[in-house]
Amino acid sequence: MTAQFDIDMIRQQFPALAQQCHGQPLVYLDSAATSQKPLVVIETIQRYYSGHNANVHRGSHSLTAAATAQFEQARTTVQHFIHAAQREEIIWTRGATEALNLIAQTYARQQLQPGDEILVSELEHHANIVPWQIVAEQTGAKVVKLPMQPDCTLDMAAFAQLLTPRTKIVAVAHITNVTGTRNPIESIIAAAHQQGAVVVVDGAQAVAHEKIDVQVLDADFYVFSGHKLFAPAGIGVLYGKRALLDAMPPWHGGGKMVEKVTFDGTTFSDLPGKFEAGTPNVAGSLALAAAIDWLSEIDHTAAEAHIHRLRQLAIDGIREIDGLRVVGLQPDASLFSFVVEGVHHQDIATLLDQQGIALRAGHHCAHPMLDALGLSGTLRVSLALYNTEQDVARFVAALHKACDLL
Ligand SMILES: *Cc1c(COP(=O)(O)O)cnc(C)c1O
Repeated sequence: MTAQFDIDMIRQQFPALAQQCHGQPLVYLDSAATSQKPLVVIETIQRYYSGHNANVHRGSHSLTAAATAQFEQARTTVQHFIHAAQREEIIWTRGATEALNLIAQTYARQQLQPGDEILVSELEHHANIVPWQIVAEQTGAKVVKLPMQPDCTLDMAAFAQLLTPRTKIVAVAHITNVTGTRNPIESIIAAAHQQGAVVVVDGAQAVAHEKIDVQVLDADFYVFSGHKLFAPAGIGVLYGKRALLDAMPPWHGGGKMVEKVTFDGTTFSDLPGKFEAGTPNVAGSLALAAAIDWLSEIDHTAAEAHIHRLRQLAIDGIREIDGLRVVGLQPDASLFSFVVEGVHHQDIATLLDQQGIALRAGHHCAHPMLDALGLSGTLRVSLALYNTEQDVARFVAALHKACDLL
């Protein structure tokens, strides 16, 4: 463990982790649903509303100037975080879901013709499926499923077959939220570009764990939410290549996204304002930048090694339980899903909750993937850098106890 990765120091920064749950210290194993927030993030929100609160890009007083400067600085922080070429390529959204809907309703809705195809992986979160179904309905395009294999990795032979000149968009998660499968997006992007298709990458699970370089990846669009990256809910990011964003029509109409409005017509702002109608979530943007700055101070390699070691400890500790099966185990992931033969996942989750263990049970907003696995749900343990060996030991003991009872 390096000097930069001191688990006690890290935990002290997360007040939510210090609470009791059913009379026992909380064990939080649901960071893939939303991460807890460090003090710097909480304090950034408090500082903003205690001091600089003002609307941005409007008015002419000092508060609004300060708020605007910080808001735009936060955009630059995000630009550097994912290594975008230009700050105008960073569009604030409410989250990954809104970003995906924006792409579907602007880029895709304008580009797609009847008979065109949108290739969508079977491992996707509903947020990266439903917007494509809606725009397919609107345009006459077709959503084509890119299947996965029994080991919960994408079927790349099928990908080679399904990718054709009809494919206009490929939508794929960087890392899936059910099993932690890391999709080979580098080769998917390269192959899609050869066919002239654009690739939309759902980075919701990847941003907290991978170093993202959208230029090296050559991703056309890359989206994520702040709340899985130690920042608040209600703020997220759409990255798009400038040439694509410039050519896209606006989505929401309102203030800030316009140059000039008359009742004869309206001219729209340049990027990024074109896609940011209305008063934005300024505090959310500042808090997301604070989360990124906080994370960048931590030794990334050490943090990921810590998470992978804990995950292995957890799996080793529960492997022997009768009827337990880890679903689609992936190497070096931050999470895993499991089922216990003959026991409903929700019953186990309830018994774990009573012992202070928070984890996720259900379909994880990924019905098609669960259907392909023939499962109605799984239990999911997802780890973050603030989890400890003690957390894992408590989980292992609690699960043994729960399975003995059921
Ligand atoms: C959480 C998640 C989403 C949706 O994110 P929101 O913050 O709910 O918009 C999309 N894709 C994946 C893989 C996710 O884990």
